[in-house]
Amino acid sequence: MPKLKETNLTIDLTALKHNFNVIKSHVSPSTQIMGVVKAFAYGTDSIVIGEKLIELGVSHLAVAYIEEGMRFRRRGINTPILVFYPQLEDLPKLIKYNLTPSIYNFRFLEKLIKGLKRRKIQKFPVHIKMNTGMNRLGFDLSDLASLKSILTNQVNVEVVGLFSHLSSAGNSEEVDFTKEQIKKFNTARHFFKKEITSNFIAHLANSSGTLSHPEATFDMVRAGIALYGYGNNSQEQLLLKPVASLTTVITQLREISPRASVGYDRNFKAQKDTTIATLPLGYADGISRIYGNGNAQVIIQGQKAPIVGNVCMDTLMVDVTGINCKEGDVVEVFGKQQSAIEFDIKAQSIPYELITRISRRVSRVFTE
Ligand SMILES: *Cc1c(COP(=O)(O)O)cnc(C)c1O
Repeated sequence: MPKLKETNLTIDLTALKHNFNVIKSHVSPSTQIMGVVKAFAYGTDSIVIGEKLIELGVSHLAVAYIEEGMRFRRRGINTPILVFYPQLEDLPKLIKYNLTPSIYNFRFLEKLIKGLKRRKIQKFPVHIKMNTGMNRLGFDLSDLASLKSILTNQVNVEVVGLFSHLSSAGNSEEVDFTKEQIKKFNTARHFFKKEITSNFIAHLANSSGTLSHPEATFDMVRAGIALYGYGNNSQEQLLLKPVASLTTVITQLREISPRASVGYDRNFKAQKDTTIATLPLGYADGISRIYGNGNAQVIIQGQKAPIVGNVCMDTLMVDVTGINCKEGDVVEVFGKQQSAIEFDIKAQSIPYELITRISRRVSRVFTE
């Protein structure tokens, strides 16, 4: 491990490539891959990851919000970018930056058509989002007839994609529900082909859909978490390599006696002679207080050291009793020696949340 002086999030582009190839090996050669780079590419770095994914062969990128998509356009990236959750207020930017909206309700569709008409824009590409059971965003199957009448009576938007989202693709106890979602999506897909347009990309699978449900891969898959090296179950996890490693250093070591306490509100009290290491990393860096008080562990000299007491804003303390370590030693929070899943020993959260929350205060370092 390189000698680092501070807290870093090291992003391994070789692992990204490995994970991309895992996704690729799970779809047919004609199936396109959309690289999901929302939320700073799951807490890593939007531009570096986006550019690398384009080099690796994704046909599309996806972001959550318009502002996220604009970052890519400003960098001169012209790959189609789907915006999952465009907001009506940002419509002028959507058009100006040539971002592709996900259309999830009639209100948005009608406003968009009106805005495009006013600007005399025709055939603006959009993806239509269907709700097949997630009940978050999207049109229901019962909306299909109304969708047809709106879409076939205008020239301003062109449907280039039809998609939906699986709620439980990585959950083996919900296979029947996933199958039901696939069936509903197929109903919508056939309706669109027959009644609206024959030339669109159908996509349903997220990472788990891709890895665990081959029948859900259609014309394109939307890969997010798997690209960053995490699966939603142990079989998926075996295939993947975590891309991001969070490391820091020991700032101070201290011996404490029985009954001495550590940190705010004295939440940790030593039962015996204990060695405490203080790390320059806290909840302002994205290590939530939920990980305090023994709920998570870090790796020092190859050994597990649990977090003791409450996590502070800028620091946290770990119990290193019996570990042969010194001030300045490198500490791995998650990455190569333990994954984000292993860090979170009490499963208080999921890798998605942990990795997307590493704050901008932590410097990003790239390796290949
Ligand atoms: C975030 C997101 C994805 C990616 O999901 P993963 O589980 O990270 O692969 C795909 N589709 C939509 C609509 C999303 O919001």
